[in-house]
Amino acid sequence: MNQESRRLNDSDIESRLEGHTRMECRICWYTYDPAEGDELEQIPPDTPFSALPDHWRCPQCDADKGMFLPIDA
Ligand SMILES: [Zn+2]
Repeated sequence: MNQESRRLNDSDIESRLEGHTRMECRICWYTYDPAEGDELEQIPPDTPFSALPDHWRCPQCDADKGMFLPIDA
């Protein structure tokens, strides 16, 4: 029983990392929220950060995706 619930928690964390984790730009503190997407780049709502196109950049300071860090909820 205990083992089973721990497994569920692990997969919860994984899906959060891939899905709805907000990401913050290290340079200008812009926050990418997967629930909102990015209107400027025509990214639809519910797009995980990992699914953004490689050419996607910070809308505020033009940093590339490597400059973003996950925000702990
Ligand atoms: Zn930025």
